[in-house]
Amino acid sequence: MQATWHSPLGDESSQLHRDISRVLFTQEEIQQRVVELGREISSDYAGLNPLFVGVLKGVVFFMSDLMRAITIPARMDFMAISRYAPHGGAKGPVRLIKDLEETVDGQHVIFAEDIIDTGLTLNYLLRILKTRNPASLEVCALFDKKDHRLVNTPVKYRGFALPSRFVVGYGLDYREGYRHLPFVGELRPELLNLA
Ligand code: 5GP
Repeated sequence: MQATWHSPLGDESSQLHRDISRVLFTQEEIQQRVVELGREISSDYAGLNPLFVGVLKGVVFFMSDLMRAITIPARMDFMAISRYAPHGGAKGPVRLIKDLEETVDGQHVIFAEDIIDTGLTLNYLLRILKTRNPASLEVCALFDKKDHRLVNTPVKYRGFALPSRFVVGYGLDYREGYRHLPFVGELRPELLNLA
């Protein structure tokens, strides 16, 4: 699929536009799938007042769209971790740098993830949440690179399966850039230095 994104500023030669080689999921495709996930979760969690938990910063776009597709009473809260080295790709150990403000004990928790790759981050965070005795704990991931999984993590709600490629947009960054693209796409290879 060719890049079909048009800059909201009407400037198709913008730097951002030129950096994307291929759009994998358009804004419309993402919005439609998020609404479907919201409907499904709203139906499954009727009467349970679920607590949505996300990890900053990648999940903010997904969380905000998902929450607006939820039609039952619900709450949300965020954690923050340090995981990748500040310059981008290289993986570092996961460390919790901001904890939840809400109590998890006795709550129906839905862990919202932007993307699951090896599953190691998710596995680490689920273990922390489980020690806090939630009434239930399920995962809702917008993008899932299933072929990369190193640990088995149960994903109840899945938006899209992704090939084993590095993508940006809709919250996903490269060196803190590109998060605000409304679609998900691949960067031109010559821009990537994931070593
Ligand atoms: P995991 O622990 O599952 O390997 O890593 C999950 C995290 O890696 C995601 O939350 C995200 O921050 C990052 N990640 C994995 N794949 C990609 C990708 O294709 N693009 C970006 N920007 N981040 C990714």
